[in-house]
Amino acid sequence: MEDLEKNNREKILKSSNEVKKAKNILKMSYITGNDNFDEIYDALEQISEDYIFIGNMKTMVFKYPAPFIKRVGFPTEIMQNPFTYWKNIIVESDWKKFQESTLNVLKGESKYQNIEFRVKDVKGNITWLRKKSVVIRDEFGSTVTIVGNISFLGKQNKIDPITGLMKITEFFKNFNKKLEKEYIENIGMMIIGVDDFEQINQLYSRQIGDKVLKNLANVIQYNIPDDIPLYKLDGDNFGLILENVDKDEVRDIYSKIKDSLGKIHFLNEENVAINISAGCAIFPKNGITYQELYKFAVYSLLYCKKTGKNKLVFFSEEVIENKVKHFEILYFLKQSIDNNFENFEVFYQPQISTKTKKLKGFEALLRWKCEKYGNVSPVEFIPLLEETGLISLVGNWVLEQSLKTFKSWLEKYPDLKISVNLSCVQLINKNCIPDFKKILEENEFPRENIFFEITESTTVSNIKTLKEIYEEIKALGVNIALDDFGTGYSSFGILKEIPVDMVKIDRSFVKDILNSSFDVTFIKFITEICHNYGIKICIEGVERKEELDLLEGLNVDYIQGYYFGKPEPEKVISEKYLK
Ligand code: C2E
Ligand code: CA
Ligand code: CA
Repeated sequence: MEDLEKNNREKILKSSNEVKKAKNILKMSYITGNDNFDEIYDALEQISEDYIFIGNMKTMVFKYPAPFIKRVGFPTEIMQNPFTYWKNIIVESDWKKFQESTLNVLKGESKYQNIEFRVKDVKGNITWLRKKSVVIRDEFGSTVTIVGNISFLGKQNKIDPITGLMKITEFFKNFNKKLEKEYIENIGMMIIGVDDFEQINQLYSRQIGDKVLKNLANVIQYNIPDDIPLYKLDGDNFGLILENVDKDEVRDIYSKIKDSLGKIHFLNEENVAINISAGCAIFPKNGITYQELYKFAVYSLLYCKKTGKNKLVFFSEEVIENKVKHFEILYFLKQSIDNNFENFEVFYQPQISTKTKKLKGFEALLRWKCEKYGNVSPVEFIPLLEETGLISLVGNWVLEQSLKTFKSWLEKYPDLKISVNLSCVQLINKNCIPDFKKILEENEFPRENIFFEITESTTVSNIKTLKEIYEEIKALGVNIALDDFGTGYSSFGILKEIPVDMVKIDRSFVKDILNSSFDVTFIKFITEICHNYGIKICIEGVERKEELDLLEGLNVDYIQGYYFGKPEPEKVISEKYLK
């Protein structure tokens, strides 16, 4: 009896062992010949680009790889209820997304999780993570185990290293995803760019440029709704994808960002004040593919920058027409330059002494006649020359022409002064000072009779490099006039920093001078300050006798405007003023 029982037991045991064995054939431990799960996990972790994690949903105990916890600053590899730790490192605006998606998995509403969100790592850098996980349930359907991996997206070249934002490739990918959604009526593609960013980079340094971008990214992010991600596109451009918006909402977003920029001084020591421009194209009205929309949004942004910057432009017919005209004009400009500056001409406008009403000198103003569009205003073609760097060639030509013309005038009127405009883009060019030197030497011209008019730079206030350039110009022996004063930033500060001989107050201050006591006070105030520094004042845009009368009382030194004379060709000027 005992034997039989023993025999049976052995049989049962044997058969159950067979079953176990058969089952084990399908198990990892059988395949690997290793029951030690920890060892396998560690080995996998070593070779994986990602971080593998595993959790027990009943006990809520989770295990994360050591390199991961080190990177994000979790206290230990094994943790119960790790969510408070996640909350500590996840960027506030991404927390809701993380929480909802995780709860969905825990509650069994979804089997997979695949989300991207930002965390602050131990070094304080914001980086993007992608967390993918899958749940394993028991036979009763309740969740038991969760396994997944976490990848640092920065590793995969999706993240812009400077701003920590997703790059243009993700922008396009995600825009495309939205196009596939059925309930979407429209999607705005908005591109925001920094005005004169190249100048910031060139005049300061790349590092300062990077800082500006980083700070701007924060300001934009702070001013847009939490659920709208911000992307870093090419150069200094940022991108937003705006679902189901109308134009007013886009305008609101832009004004909010702009307003808060106005309140911020980006960098304490260097004081870079920036403005932003924006372009927006809307699906499906303006285009139906992301490529088309991107092109049109960029065109709108360029159009914005060309027509005054510091605003928002929606895509329109006007933008396209302008783009076509832009290419044509550029083509004809290049032709003119290649044909020995054909169709270019320098005009001269008189500047008069307020006290004596005697002629002080002339400002040289460039004119250009396009074969297709006729006379094009310098306000339109100078920026094109600046964009393409051609301004250096043309600027040198203007200087040469003006000196030649003036030389003959000087014989009779040796006190006459000549003012020539220099573009900031010209000044950034490394050859500019040697070029000026050469032209001045070749033309043997009394240098104290020359004024270089330089526009108060719109982006910079107290830059060392700019100061150096001004000093190098001064060292040539010429005078410097600060042009368009009052239209940029930090106007007063700059007067102390750079060697200026004359300040030209912008025409916009004269326009309303008869009605605006503010403008009168401004001119009076500036004149007093400048006179204290020994700087002369010239007022532009005086068109009427009443304006002149008012200005005489304000002690300004020189007047330039249609009241005394418009810019005219050399011959007309000789006839009129220099007989
Ligand atoms: P800007 O240097 O401020 O030149 C003064 C502008 O005001 C000129 O416009 C002149 O014609 C205009 N103006 C002068 N008096 C009056 C007035 O009483 N009423 C009105 N309504 N306008 C007046 P313009 O010639 O069209 O030149 C525009 C701008 O183009 C210049 O502004 C300057 O920034 C740029 N520019 C012109 N020539 C050159 C050049 O050779 N090189 C560079 N870099 N820029 C130039
Ligand atoms: Ca000028
Ligand atoms: Ca001016």
